[in-house]
Amino acid sequence: LFVEAPLAEGAALTLDGAPANYLGNVLRLAAGAQVKLFDDVTGEWLAEVVGAGRKRVTLTVVQHLRPREPVPDIWLLFAPVKRGPIDWIVEKATELGVDRLLPVVTQRTVVDRLNLDRLRANAIEAAEQCERTALPRLDPPEKLAAVLKSWPEDRVLLFADETGGVPFVEATQGAGKAAILIGPEGGFTQDERAAVRALSAARGVSLGPRILRAETAAVAAVSVWMATAGDWP
Ligand code: SAM
Repeated sequence: LFVEAPLAEGAALTLDGAPANYLGNVLRLAAGAQVKLFDDVTGEWLAEVVGAGRKRVTLTVVQHLRPREPVPDIWLLFAPVKRGPIDWIVEKATELGVDRLLPVVTQRTVVDRLNLDRLRANAIEAAEQCERTALPRLDPPEKLAAVLKSWPEDRVLLFADETGGVPFVEATQGAGKAAILIGPEGGFTQDERAAVRALSAARGVSLGPRILRAETAAVAAVSVWMATAGDWP
């Protein structure tokens, strides 16, 4: 379970709201029960329930289990797609181990407002489910032009381009820090494609001969990256 406060041995915790409801009413834990908590700073701890009411649960942190895990240095940049698919992108990218999620507004992005709180809650829930002790960084949307303007030269930008790119595995050769860029349902405009390709750190990559939905492309690209350059054995 994710908790905001930095955890420490012997700390006394009082949980309200959703975490308390989950422990007290869903799991119906009683005093003496043990749970695993993580805070995205110090890692994962074992805690013991001291008291569990309907709205409040008190615990004592008893043992440090593991430090905050090192997360592969991969960013996922994606044009916001509608509710549902975008929730799925955040959830799957979190499970797969992405370090940073950056929504990028492009000319054909149809979504104008993003509920970052909902997306952050999706990331937390996905991290809890896959037992990840580090949350992905989720940033507010930025315009593509601004992202390109301030792009860090030492990070390869793998630009998923259905109109043509090199095979993904070839593009990741020798790429240290990397990022993946996925377009909106309507795709990138020609100008956008040219602007991205003008970046020396950009490499156009193919995800195969078919047109994938943006959410499929995001998960496919991250999975291939993890398998070729990430932390999969
Ligand atoms: N231009 C597409 C069309 O004709 O329908 C629309 C874009 S596609 C639905 C959404 C995004 O997924 C694209 O902008 C691209 O980033 C990525 N994508 C989809 N299929 C791909 C492929 N075969 N290779 C590389 N990227 C792909």
